[in-house]
Amino acid sequence: MKGGKLIVFSAPSGSGKTTIVRHLLEQEQLNLAFSVSAASRAPRAHEKDGEDYYFISTEQFKQHIKDGDFLEWEEVYRDNFYGTLKSEVERLWAQGKNVIFDIDVVGGLRIKKKFPDKTLAVFVKIPSVDELKIRLKNRKTESEEKINMRIAKASIEMATAPQFDFIIVNDNLEKALKESEELVAKYITE
Ligand code: 5GP
Repeated sequence: MKGGKLIVFSAPSGSGKTTIVRHLLEQEQLNLAFSVSAASRAPRAHEKDGEDYYFISTEQFKQHIKDGDFLEWEEVYRDNFYGTLKSEVERLWAQGKNVIFDIDVVGGLRIKKKFPDKTLAVFVKIPSVDELKIRLKNRKTESEEKINMRIAKASIEMATAPQFDFIIVNDNLEKALKESEELVAKYITE
């Protein structure tokens, strides 16, 4: 597979990485396109198929695994599968784009390992687990049980931060956005 650079943003759910990725996508000079992942969970109210995710059934997901269609995939939460299709990255590279990923830490590190020379892997750190709890509750998109599942996973994910190229602490969103923009701008011109 040949093509532009790969920019991975990984972090625990609720860290604000999606906000950062959206901001970066608006910066035209960065020439970024979002890698739409396949997911087996149900869409949330505002989510669109083919834009936020390719929403597929667990059976379809497992078939893609069998067929070797994924660059990486992960059962991020029990029975919730997420993965990056090879065809998605090829599609965006064919458009001459740099590809940006909003994926979990394991998937992010896998992409980095597969394409070490063209991947910038950024970890977005939350200030604290308590702060994360507040953010997830305020978001009101998950049940109490799901929030607890995400918080338990966040503590494990935080431990992988040192394996990333850069760590951005999202304690001030403005600052985090600016820092991310500078980081990506520098990397794509290297
Ligand atoms: P959510 O359900 O909140 O949209 O996403 C849950 C988690 O799955 C987030 O950490 C998100 O970054 C991660 N995720 C989304 N797409 C992928 C993917 O293609 N691969 C992997 N490994 N994780 C993903």
